[in-house]
Order: sequence, then C-alpha cells, then structure tokens
Amino acid sequence: MSNNVDMSPEEFRKYGYELIDWIADYFKNIEKFPVLAKINPGDIKLKLPKSPPSNHESMKEIFADIDKIIMPGMTHWNHPKFMAYFNSTASGPGVLAELLSAAFNINGMVWKSSPASTELEEVMMDWLRQMIGLPENFWGIIYDGGSASTLHGIAMAKEAVKGNQFRVKGMMGDKNGKKLRLYQSEHAHSSVEKAALTLGIGVEGVRKISVDYEFKMIPTELKKAIDEDRKNGWLPFCVVGTVGTTSSTAIDPIPEIVKICKEENLWLHVDAAHAGSAAILPEMRYILNGCEEADSFYFNPHKWMFVPIDVSAFFTRHPEILKKTFSLTAEYLKTEHDTKAKNHMDYGLQLGRRFRSLKLWFLIRYFGVEGLQKIIREHLRLTKLVESWVNESDIIELIAPVNLSTICFRAVPKHVQSEAELNNFNERLLEKINESGEFFLTHTKLNHKFTIRIVISGLRTTEKHVKEVWEHVNKCIG
Ligand SMILES: *Cc1c(COP(=O)(O)O)cnc(C)c1O
Repeated sequence: MSNNVDMSPEEFRKYGYELIDWIADYFKNIEKFPVLAKINPGDIKLKLPKSPPSNHESMKEIFADIDKIIMPGMTHWNHPKFMAYFNSTASGPGVLAELLSAAFNINGMVWKSSPASTELEEVMMDWLRQMIGLPENFWGIIYDGGSASTLHGIAMAKEAVKGNQFRVKGMMGDKNGKKLRLYQSEHAHSSVEKAALTLGIGVEGVRKISVDYEFKMIPTELKKAIDEDRKNGWLPFCVVGTVGTTSSTAIDPIPEIVKICKEENLWLHVDAAHAGSAAILPEMRYILNGCEEADSFYFNPHKWMFVPIDVSAFFTRHPEILKKTFSLTAEYLKTEHDTKAKNHMDYGLQLGRRFRSLKLWFLIRYFGVEGLQKIIREHLRLTKLVESWVNESDIIELIAPVNLSTICFRAVPKHVQSEAELNNFNERLLEKINESGEFFLTHTKLNHKFTIRIVISGLRTTEKHVKEVWEHVNKCIG
C-alpha cells in the first residue's frame, strides 16, 4: 500500500494489466469451464471469512481468491453453451467501457454534474432509436433494467390519467374513487405486476388477457375486458404489450392493440426486452410494427446486443409527462443550465446515475451496425436450423412457433403416453441435460406442458455448439 490514500498509479497499472490478462484468458478459455457451477447452496459462503479484514491485503491475495472462491461458484453467462433464460453476454468493447465508466465515477444526475454523460446518453439513445426504426419523436433514457423501464412506463401512464391528483394526493387521487386497471397478456413478464405492486395499483389492478394458440394476446378479449371493467366501475388506464414474451417469444398484435388504446384513450407501454435488438435487422423490423404509436417502449441492449449488464433503453413520445411524473427539484440541485439542458434526474426514479452510455458508444462503434446485424442474423439462422431438426425428429416436438432465437420443445417418446407422464419425463430430461454442467437449458410451462427452451443469442455461440446441444438432448432422451 503506497500511503494512506489510494492505490498508487504504478500499482494500479501493474494489477490493471494483470487483471486484463486474466479477463482475456477467461474469454479465450471460456469453454473449458462448466457452464453451470457444480456446488450446493452455502458452499461459497463457507469459503469466505465471516468478518472483514482489519489490515491491508495484497492484490495478489485478492486475485488468487477469484480462482479459488469465485470461479467455482460461477454460472457462465458468457459460455457458448449457455442457452438458458434469455442470454446476456459481455463483449470486449463493453467490458472496456465498463472499466472506464468505473474510473470516471461520475454522477450524471444533472447536466452540470457530467455534461458528457448526459449528452452522450441522449445521442446513444438516438442511435438506438434509429437502429430499431422508431420515429424521431421518441426520446430515450437509460435505466438499469427491464423491470425499471416498465415501472417508469406504468408510472407515466398513471400520471397521464385525465384529471387525476395522484401526484399530490396519492392513490386516493381519482376524484370518483375509481380503481385503476391495467391490462397485460397472461404471458407478460412478472415485472409488470411488480410495477403495479410498487405503484400502489395492486395485484387486483392487473387484468390478464387470454392468449391465442401462438400465445399472443387476443385483442377482442382485451376490448371485452375493458368494456366489462368500465361497466363495473373500474378506471382502465394502461395496456402493456409484449414483443417477445419470456416463455416463448410470442409477439402480441401491437397494431390491433394500438387501435384499441386509441379508441379507449389508454396508455400503451411495450415491453420488447429481449426481442427489440432483432429489430436492427431490416428483415426483422416488422416485429415492432405498431410500436411507433406506443406511448412508452423499451428493450434491453444488455440482453441481445452484448452490452455487459446493465443497460435498458427506454423510449417515450412524451418526455414532458415523464418529467411531470418524476421531477421534484431540491434547491441545491438547481443550476443555471436548467432551461438549456436536460437533467436526467428529472426523468426517473434515480438521482445518481452511472455513465452507462459509454458501453453503447464503444460497442456500436466497434462492431458497427452491420457487424451487430450479422451476429444477430446468424443467431436467427442457427435457430431456424434447430427448428428444422425438430421438424424432422419423431421424438421431439415444437410447443410454440419459432419467432426469434428461442426453440420451445419437448420430447415425446413412443413409450410415454399421458400428459402427466410426459411432463415427468421432460422434467427429468432437463435435469439430465444440465447434469454434466456442459450445457445449460431452462424450461417453461405452455398449455400445462413442461417445455424445454433452447435460446441461441449468445455472442460466442456457433453452429458447432448448436449441433452439440442437439446431439446431447437426443442422447439424453435415450
Ligand atoms: C428479461 C425480461 C424482463 C426483465 O428485464 P430485467 O432487465 O431483468 O428487469 C422483462 N420483460 C421481458 C419480456 C423479459 O424478457
């Protein structure tokens, strides 16, 4: 330790180089690690001291413990055979930008507190807007994740209710004492309900609309529910549409939902957390048809655009409503620039904000839009390849249409008859697939069927890995 201040620049340089070497080797050798940690709950805690060290420990000792304590407890999201959940894989330029962001350690609460962060964020959000083909009247801001983006969208929807006094009087603010109701499909992400809980709308304030045979929201059911609720004294205020549901990547019919929202004067928030990145391909842009009329919209570049977690890109046509919802400026935060520049603290829950836009700036410039398109296009090709194998197989069947990078399937061996037995069989099959630690797949339930998912959107996943997972699945079926 140099003195009582920080690590010396010389020491920082030495260990910085060492750590970068470590990370480069980690990426190079990623396939040598099991994708799933082979440990039990509590194992990592046992290796850690119960109390903090009183005295200086060397970086050498700290680094050694990464291999000894941390690595055995890692599920490797960067692994090419991680095909679970929705991937989020880190890219080199994203990791370097993250390092720089930590070094700058700015707080982008107001323009003055970090002009470069505020302005780079606005420009990066506009780059993303152009990349996914949203109109110019969409303004964007970065939040930490999809759940935060949806929370902000629904908070805006609440603030947009005509004549409400929620801001001042809280949830008793509607003058007629009506209760708010929001609509989502049965397959929408749990973050919608979580936002409703947080915002005081409550679980009963969320009405789930049934889905069709492709797991998409049925617009006529939505319309029926709204009519019924109005008759029964509810106050409908918001619809959340999903482009790419988490279970099966179903795409709600946004153009039809837009029509209903307009007729009924409801806010439309669109959750395109994972799928949104695919819209940078001209041939895939149709998945966002209708979203240009959404009131708020988001997708997560940390999912399928290889930005290290976290970056969620939130867009709205009504930044003034966002400001009306969240701005509450304390005297000590007022600056002489307030009329000329946006202060990001006014556009969300967070006051302190990290320099997240650096990650987008590094990444989009390093790969270029065409480079990113090429990677995502290859993922879609590989997904179609697996779909064709499923179609040829007589022991594996598709459970949902393949819209993006996810294949939902189950095994249907001849000797297994009833639905209950099939569910048992597939549950055991998934355990067997993941047992070796070489692959990681997860499941969902669709129409009461235990469904296994293969997700192909990892940066390092190639045809070789996809072939290997297919062979492995078939071998495990026996
Ligand atoms: C992943 C996901 C979310 C949640 O995003 P976080 O960033 O993890 O909060 C919400 N909706 C959908 C459709 C998702 O796939």
